[in-house]
Amino acid sequence: MALIDDTKTLLGELISFATVSSDGNLELIAWAADRLGELGAETRVMVDETGSKANLFATIGPNEDGGIVLSGHSDVVPVADQDWSSDPFRMREADGLLYGRGACDMKGFIAAVLATAPLFATSKLTRPVHICLTYDEEVGCLGARKLVSELPGMGVRPALAVIGEPTEMRIIEGHKGCCEYTTTFRGLEGHGSVPDAGVNAVEYALRYGMRLMELKEQLKGRAPAASRFDPPWTTLQLGRLVGGVAHNVIPGLASLDWEMRPVTEADRAYVCEAIDAYVHDELLPAMRAVHPQASIRREVVGEVAGLEPVEENEARRIVAELTGANGADVVSFGTEAGLFQQLGMSVVVCGPGSIAQAHKPDEFVSLDQLGACLAMLERLAGRLNAS
Ligand SMILES: [Zn+2]
Repeated sequence: MALIDDTKTLLGELISFATVSSDGNLELIAWAADRLGELGAETRVMVDETGSKANLFATIGPNEDGGIVLSGHSDVVPVADQDWSSDPFRMREADGLLYGRGACDMKGFIAAVLATAPLFATSKLTRPVHICLTYDEEVGCLGARKLVSELPGMGVRPALAVIGEPTEMRIIEGHKGCCEYTTTFRGLEGHGSVPDAGVNAVEYALRYGMRLMELKEQLKGRAPAASRFDPPWTTLQLGRLVGGVAHNVIPGLASLDWEMRPVTEADRAYVCEAIDAYVHDELLPAMRAVHPQASIRREVVGEVAGLEPVEENEARRIVAELTGANGADVVSFGTEAGLFQQLGMSVVVCGPGSIAQAHKPDEFVSLDQLGACLAMLERLAGRLNAS
């Protein structure tokens, strides 16, 4: 049977696992681990603390460093409140398009990888191929974070990674990070007529927000000279400010939700260090002079690392040779790629389907796109074959 038919069958099966992030993915992971295990791959299933989700890390080929990771997230976004023309968890084919939740984001890529796995398994590989399926990408890359933290301990040091998010098979070598924080201010309530007797949590939240706005301006001057992002610098914005009960009551509690889209890890650290220093040196001493129990707490809701474009990128070079693409782009959406890059690997994002269909009702991937992805993977297998 042609690879494209295998891919279609596999995609149908993958879509039938309703792996919405909140519901877990164990059945899909067990199914994929079985398939790859039968081919002789060494499979490792890493279950999370809740016992309802897992990553799969499967290795084909020699047990050594320098391998190539093909990575996809197994979770999908919910279908609730979306108007689908047919059951989102039953693949439907029409006019060369395959419909279903996760078709492009990103079970199409996973299906193509699983379809070519027998090819890798029967080749005499010159370097290992690691097939990696993660959980909870859609809710902060939690699975990939766990995987990346455990890889060094497992003694596995792959050299490069291809993350198969839908890019229409274009090579993406960079995207900004996405970091979300909630800062909570606890002061002291009191009567509005004696403001100095209380600690006004809303007023401290405002001062904190103003400091963030200063940093926002400074970040513009820190944009890397050759930055291709739009805008080219790290952005920062205040998303939600809550606090207080009435005109005449000193608010004892306030909270601020804010986010940052860093173009470099250094910018992320710069902002966090600067705002924490401001809290430590100015805001907290002022609050505690009135009320020793006052506090300011910055909670990390999620920190998804960006993918920083780098000059020397072996993954970009190899994928360009395999796909015939000339050049690589940057995009605005985040992926797990930055986490792999932080391990010192060279990384690109390249996969079938379009981000335009991701997360939408009647999500689809075209057979043409799957065919292009298969062509890339087949060439990769040929390139890695020593015999
Ligand atoms: Zn995705």
